[in-house]
Amino acid sequence: MDDAVDSGGIEVIIQNEEDKTAPRCPHGPALLFEKTGNGEEKGRRFYACSACRDRKDCNFFQWADEKISEARMLAREEQNRSKMPLFSHQEYSSRFREFVSLPLEQRRFCVDCQLLILPEERATHAKHKALSEDTTVQRLKRPSLLLCPLDNKKSNAQYLFADRSCHFLLDMLLGLGFQKILCVGTPRLHEVIKLRNMKGKSPKMKSLLLDIDYRYCQFYGQDEFCRYNMFNHHFFDDEEAVTFFQGFLREEEGAKVVMITDPPFGGLVKPLANSFSQMAITWKNQNKGQMPMIWIFPYFFESRILECFPSFSMLDYQVDYDNHPLYKHGKTGRKQSPVRLFTNLSPKDIILPEDEGYRFCSVCERYVSAGNKHCPKCDTCPSKDGREWRHCDECGRCVKPSWRHCSSCGHCALPDHPCGQSQTGCFNCGSQKHKLRTCPKKHNKRFSE
Ligand code: SAH
Ligand code: ZN
Ligand code: ZN
Ligand code: ZN
Ligand code: ZN
Repeated sequence: MDDAVDSGGIEVIIQNEEDKTAPRCPHGPALLFEKTGNGEEKGRRFYACSACRDRKDCNFFQWADEKISEARMLAREEQNRSKMPLFSHQEYSSRFREFVSLPLEQRRFCVDCQLLILPEERATHAKHKALSEDTTVQRLKRPSLLLCPLDNKKSNAQYLFADRSCHFLLDMLLGLGFQKILCVGTPRLHEVIKLRNMKGKSPKMKSLLLDIDYRYCQFYGQDEFCRYNMFNHHFFDDEEAVTFFQGFLREEEGAKVVMITDPPFGGLVKPLANSFSQMAITWKNQNKGQMPMIWIFPYFFESRILECFPSFSMLDYQVDYDNHPLYKHGKTGRKQSPVRLFTNLSPKDIILPEDEGYRFCSVCERYVSAGNKHCPKCDTCPSKDGREWRHCDECGRCVKPSWRHCSSCGHCALPDHPCGQSQTGCFNCGSQKHKLRTCPKKHNKRFSE
């Protein structure tokens, strides 16, 4: 796929539900892509893995018009089977029950295999790094601390919420009266909800985690976790999981449901939006109105998210992470996180913490960052990044504080921008071969603008 990207852009083609012809890789049905731009094979369509953007992780590739021989088909099925987790979810669950019944000194967690191991398996892991002292019941309730965050650069990178953000989210959902939380790629939030329930707090909240990381099968039963791919709305345990998922979305006895998701930022917006729409349809078949959703993503994806979900708004709240090298809330002054909440809930109902400087703007009817000053000319609180923006009369809008109006470009830009060049080529990387919309580097630069 990398070679293809160099010659132009790649667009993902969302197919109809009925169109079940997509070939499968170990991550479920592949996505259909089309090359755009100046490449020789312009317009040619191909299938590639939905979950992995790096071919080292999954090298599935097939031209859309390619005929696949019987032999290759069989080889592919064999390959898909070989990439399945070691155990079924049911097996993982019974292993867990056995594990917790062991005395503490017999419990081992193999760091290399990221697996809770049973006494009879110890020999197989003898040469591996084993963690033993730390598998207390307390520790097993916090799998996100036990498991190493996946740091796979392009697809599965796991960035865990800092406590502050995690508790903000939990309190916000409670405050809004939600009792069933569909956690899509938010294992730490799921964990914190479970911990809160164990402490006997009321009202009780239910949580269902959907995530592609099968290591969580070890800790959560099939009624708490489904292995799921959010780029193609694929449930790995098929019908069983789908039925359970549908049941979870049913709002019985007034228990309101909300979906909250924090996808990998390298991910493509369109397939994600498509999966979330599928969820919303499932929800709508059983309830009235619109499924409440919160999608956590960097602010520079705003226009692409709003394109898919016009009723969404972006909130000013900055989501912080524990293990992100740049956006960790530290003692040395806070680096501004670019990650925000996008939601179809009413912004005025989501109260942002005053002690972190957020305040209510009565004109916009929403909570905004301390530095986000209301601009009467724009009639909005314009800042996206939390800094105070400045109104430019020539542009007729507010711009970042570091930007200056450039008369030869005819708009505001950074003082050292490549003057006069941005009109023809790509606004992101400067290439003359494509426009910003199809820039291949745009998606790969995690957390950058
Ligand atoms: N901030 C969250 C974690 C977000 S990291 C928290 O603290 O709970 C992104 C999450 O999405 C990870 O848990 C990762 O395993 C999951 N993920 C990555 N690719 C996925 C996919 N294709 N489908 C479903 N989940 C995926
Ligand atoms: Zn794959
Ligand atoms: Zn305002
Ligand atoms: Zn303005
Ligand atoms: Zn200007």
